[in-house]
Amino acid sequence: MTSFATKVFCRVERLCYHLPVVLNTFLVFSITGEVSYLVMVEAPLEADQRKTVWSARWKTVHLLAQYFMLVNICWNAMLFLKTCPSIKGVFLGGESMGQGWRYCYTCETHTPPRCSHCYDCKVCVLRRDHHCVFFGQCVGFRNYRYFLSCLLFMWCGLLYATLMNAEVFIVILKEGVTLHSVLLLLLPWIMLISGQVSARAFAFAFIADTCVLGFLLVSAFFFFHFFLMIRGQTTREWYSNRRPYSLGVLGNLHHALGLRWYLCWLSVRYCRG
Ligand SMILES: [Zn+2]
Ligand SMILES: [Zn+2]
Repeated sequence: MTSFATKVFCRVERLCYHLPVVLNTFLVFSITGEVSYLVMVEAPLEADQRKTVWSARWKTVHLLAQYFMLVNICWNAMLFLKTCPSIKGVFLGGESMGQGWRYCYTCETHTPPRCSHCYDCKVCVLRRDHHCVFFGQCVGFRNYRYFLSCLLFMWCGLLYATLMNAEVFIVILKEGVTLHSVLLLLLPWIMLISGQVSARAFAFAFIADTCVLGFLLVSAFFFFHFFLMIRGQTTREWYSNRRPYSLGVLGNLHHALGLRWYLCWLSVRYCRG
């Protein structure tokens, strides 16, 4: 009985561990699908503007831009998840050990300054920033640039999707600020379950809401981490108001993104130089 309960608990734990990544992937692809639909079929939603504004070439530019952002989000997220931030495989110790080094009793090893143990990942992480619940993995020295680059493209993609969905809000509010339109914008699930709106209207309202909320959330994360990167701080150091490892703005940029940091919007993987 105990082993069955343990197995069920392990399964649920594993599911919870992967759930945020699965949910985020679903949302990213749903938003891209909806914006592609808006570009290809519906945009602009006003019928009298369709032929004049949205030529085939203009639609192609829109589609290329959004798929460029989608590929970069997925590519950087994949590199982030594939890059283990732990100290496993790194030679530590010997004469280099000095002030600031600690001993991790869980991993049974000496760890350098800025390294700390993560009880979710169950490893010591080099230059640990924080444990990201959305990816289910720690952000550390090895995968920090992929994390930043993923945030950059998510921010660009959500800004674009929010602007594209502005017309959805305009169409919903065209009937005026009524109880129906306000509830559709704020509580689309309730409107769908109670049969007040069609599945199509729900899907548009839900994705438009997700774009706005996602944009606000990602903006906060992106600008906070951009600010930390410029200051050469980790989140833990920011909490304790210390920045002992700052190398100056340019030095911090080089340290986080590589010597060719200005090319990180193309591929952060080859910025190290
Ligand atoms: Zn440890
Ligand atoms: Zn962790």
